[in-house]
Amino acid sequence: MTNRRIGLLGGTFDPIHLGHIELAALAQTTLGLTEVLLIPANVPPHRTKPLTSSFHRFAMTALAVAGRPGWCASDVELRHEAPSYTTTTLVRFHQQGYLARELFFLIGADAFADITSWREYPQILDRAHFAVVSRPSYPVIELREQLPDLVDRMVVMEEGEQPPDTPSIILIDGLTANVSSTAIRARLSAGESVEGMVDDRVRQHIAQHGLYRSSPGNRQTSSSVGNSPAGRLHGQN
Ligand code: ATP
Ligand code: MG
Repeated sequence: MTNRRIGLLGGTFDPIHLGHIELAALAQTTLGLTEVLLIPANVPPHRTKPLTSSFHRFAMTALAVAGRPGWCASDVELRHEAPSYTTTTLVRFHQQGYLARELFFLIGADAFADITSWREYPQILDRAHFAVVSRPSYPVIELREQLPDLVDRMVVMEEGEQPPDTPSIILIDGLTANVSSTAIRARLSAGESVEGMVDDRVRQHIAQHGLYRSSPGNRQTSSSVGNSPAGRLHGQN
């Protein structure tokens, strides 16, 4: 297939929320992505565990993409016993015949700010484009100061422009919902509504299965509500 452009968005998705969806939608429009894969991470045992199981995190991800043509929930990281490292995932895509310039690893500016501590940095930057999207309070433009060694690889792309042929750091400055999974977990644990923060189908799944409730006897896998596994996920040692 020629001219395929695959967006890959990894995350803990505990739970998936509208910020994730808006990030991916913005990247899809700007970059002309032909497919968008949302990839729930397999969180290694030595990290803070997600509150919900991989099964529920995958189910919520599948519900959140339902009805969006070209979007899929991918089990590529959950199918493997080993922890999720982005570099490993990208190599798996190469083994399936994808070229680095066809892959766009989608990431929020807060997470990308930590890239130098990711496994196989800096080689990882050659395995795909990194499309970095602003997150409220984390404008992409600040990355130039935060990561001066990477400024030469950074490009700003306008909608409809052709992406560079060599793997680059593509900065996308747009507005996404000011929500986080941490805040959503805290609200749910306190019995507050998360309407308007997550897809309605995801909200229904959470309620129906009693996820993120703080009462005893719930079906959570850990009791550390305030802990945030993400941000450190996906690449770091
Ligand atoms: P947590 O609070 O548990 O860390 P989170 O809301 O940060 O959860 P993650 O699963 O850690 O969600 O994020 C996955 C990816 O989505 C990361 O690259 C992160 O930067 C990005 N992201 C998350 N929320 C937003 C948002 N509101 N706007 C833009 N990007 C976001
Ligand atoms: Mg995070």
